Amino acid sequence: MGKAPSILIPPSILILGGTTEARLLAGRLAVERNDCAITLSLAGRTRNPVDMPAPVISGGFGGAEGLAHYLRDHGVTLLIDATHPFAAIMSSNAERAASDTGVPLIALRRPEWQRQPGDRWTEVASGVEAISALGDAPRRVFLSLGRQEAHVADAAPQHRYVVRSVEPIEPPLVAPDVRYILDRGPFAPTSERSLLTAEGIDAIIAKNSGGSASHAKIVVARELGIEVILIGRPPVPQVPSATGIDEAMAMMADHLPLTERGA
Ligand code: NAP
Repeated sequence: MGKAPSILIPPSILILGGTTEARLLAGRLAVERNDCAITLSLAGRTRNPVDMPAPVISGGFGGAEGLAHYLRDHGVTLLIDATHPFAAIMSSNAERAASDTGVPLIALRRPEWQRQPGDRWTEVASGVEAISALGDAPRRVFLSLGRQEAHVADAAPQHRYVVRSVEPIEPPLVAPDVRYILDRGPFAPTSERSLLTAEGIDAIIAKNSGGSASHAKIVVARELGIEVILIGRPPVPQVPSATGIDEAMAMMADHLPLTERGA
């Protein structure tokens, strides 16, 4: 009997996204590795996400077990955790699902911002700690925590808040003096300087997200001598990690041969 014809199964990559890096990585793969099937997964929190260069699934998997089922059911051959540095539950689920299924996992984790001379940082571990670090006296606060966590400010309604988020804060904060700004990065130093100056901001509350899209406020705060109350990152599992797109592409290459299966 002759040898059965074989078919080539393209590698199937699932990128857990929600970050600029995930989108850029998917774009690079779409151009440079069009032999691969790429899927981008979003949490589904943003009502109008920007256009993505790969097919998108949205809304979660149902924990680590759900993700493991997805990996098996869809024949995923490589899992990329390119989630936001504060999306620690998803990163932990990715690590568990990868180890349960044997699917290789690579994380794409942008470096944290590092304190520079002139920075007036107060480093804290949570949004709750950040609000308490403002103190009792009324201040003018720029709050950049995202919709899910903005309500930590309800504990200190004596401050005036300027709250910037991609999605509306609903319900509104309890503080009587709040200005809401709906906007999505990247943000430029010029516009950040205008905003912080015009609003007379004397404290910024932000997460140490790293990356360039939201870094301008940190740079401008340094220039203007504004205190930044910076929330440190949650712990995430130690897995093979890249800090940028080029490094991730190089690490992925080892896992992306065409697989051959007898028909
Ligand atoms: P999380 O707390 O790590 O995850 C909570 C759940 O959301 C996960 O268990 C998962 O649901 C779902 N999920 C998260 N990322 C997903 C993805 N890429 N694809 C599919 N499902 C996903 O993450 P989070 O609630 O999104 O955010 C936590 C922190 O990260 C917040 O501080 C938020 O502001 C910040 N952040 C997140 C994003 C983002 O795109 N996720 C973007 C910017 C900032 P299942 O268990 O059902 O799978």
